[in-house]
Amino acid sequence: MSWKPECLIVGGGVIGCGVAWELARRGARVTVLERSVPGAEASSAAAGILGAQLESEAPGPLFTLALASRRRYPVWARRLAAETGIDIEHRPSGVLEVAFGADELRRVRKRFALQARAGARIEHLDRRALRREHPAVTERAVGAVLLRDDGRVDPPALLRALRVASERAGARFRTGAFVRRVVVRDGRAAGVLLDDGTVLEADRVVVAAGSWSSLVEGAELPPGGVTPARGQIVELGVPCPLFTPVLHGPRCYLVPRDDGRVLVGSTLEFVGFRREVTAGAVRTLLDAAIELVPALADAAVLRSWSSFRPYTHDGLPVIGSADVEGLVMATGHHRNGVLLAPITAEVVAALVLGVRPPVDIGPFSPVRGREPAPGVSASSGRRRVARRETARA
Ligand SMILES: Cc1cc2nc3c(=O)[nH]c(=O)nc-3n(C[C@H](O)[C@H](O)[C@H](O)COP(=O)(O)OP(=O)(O)OC[C@H]3O[C@@H](n4cnc5c(N)ncnc54)[C@H](O)[C@@H]3O)c2cc1C
Repeated sequence: MSWKPECLIVGGGVIGCGVAWELARRGARVTVLERSVPGAEASSAAAGILGAQLESEAPGPLFTLALASRRRYPVWARRLAAETGIDIEHRPSGVLEVAFGADELRRVRKRFALQARAGARIEHLDRRALRREHPAVTERAVGAVLLRDDGRVDPPALLRALRVASERAGARFRTGAFVRRVVVRDGRAAGVLLDDGTVLEADRVVVAAGSWSSLVEGAELPPGGVTPARGQIVELGVPCPLFTPVLHGPRCYLVPRDDGRVLVGSTLEFVGFRREVTAGAVRTLLDAAIELVPALADAAVLRSWSSFRPYTHDGLPVIGSADVEGLVMATGHHRNGVLLAPITAEVVAALVLGVRPPVDIGPFSPVRGREPAPGVSASSGRRRVARRETARA
């Protein structure tokens, strides 16, 4: 008898691969359909910050989801290493939010005070403690807040590990498979139609096509859908690591790797699917990086790249069952897809297998608020986020 998948996953990014691994581990027959190769897009381009606290202004549904996902990372990393031999460089190194002026320091402290009241660990460093514990940070900095439980992973290693682990657990990958639409029969998902006219059948379809999710016909998304938000990164190299936590300054973030590389990120731009790395962005990022850690002036410039975060107008991911039976959406993770991958994988696997998800996913429903939030048009929401986000993932 030929192997027929129970579930087709559209997209082989960190979300699609995470879901495939989780489903395959639970014994489901699953095939990932990827138009390019797994990890070809945003997921391998990400900086890999696990910024559950960094990324949240205040407690709320996204904060709760992010904490739940961050908690799962140590087990993910151990299991992936055991099953594949690949170290995803999971480091609970903390994220240091650095302030350059007294007003800024007050603002930063106020912002994280809300999280502290909700039980998150926050540590304050005055100028002296900052110099003592993180001497690479500029002397101009007046203080910092350490988010000790945030951390980092190496996204390209994570993607390699997820693919290998999924295949070892029985999942199949079909590369070069461009999905044009979800096939619906009698009101339920029945498979997908590929660009070459092939129909692949399955009772369950998961759309995890990142920034391209709105282009998959039949995908059900909230108003505004999912749009690309370009981010650019410059990679530097120093002979030995200068610092271990992720540094988050007013104009850039710096993510260290164990081998001495440092990722400088990032921009947030709404320019459609234009892939170029721009001179202006590189200049701004390098200026900001050297301002934050002066020793980086001597670093080698290794590479630069850009990719597209799957942005939604309300800033929340889209995770849940669609109106069409058997169709599950897993997209719109914007700046936090790497962070949110473990919890998304568990939730989606539960939905596909018809069991109760481990967390409340009501706020992330694909069929949420068919009307935009009062007073927030998609464009004004975007402008607000864009100003806030120049320095974030
Ligand atoms: C510069 C930058 C920095 C970032 N830093 C961080 C960070 O520090 N921490 C963090 O948590 N997140 C970060 N992110 C966000 C994170 O990268 C994304 O949220 C995450 O990768 C989204 O994963 P995904 O699987 O949904 O999308 P993607 O990785 O884009 O994967 C989608 C896949 O679907 C495939 N596909 C699309 N359409 C089709 C189709 N029709 N048929 C078949 N296949 C299709 C694509 O080829 C692609 O491989 C960053 C993003 C960028 C751009």
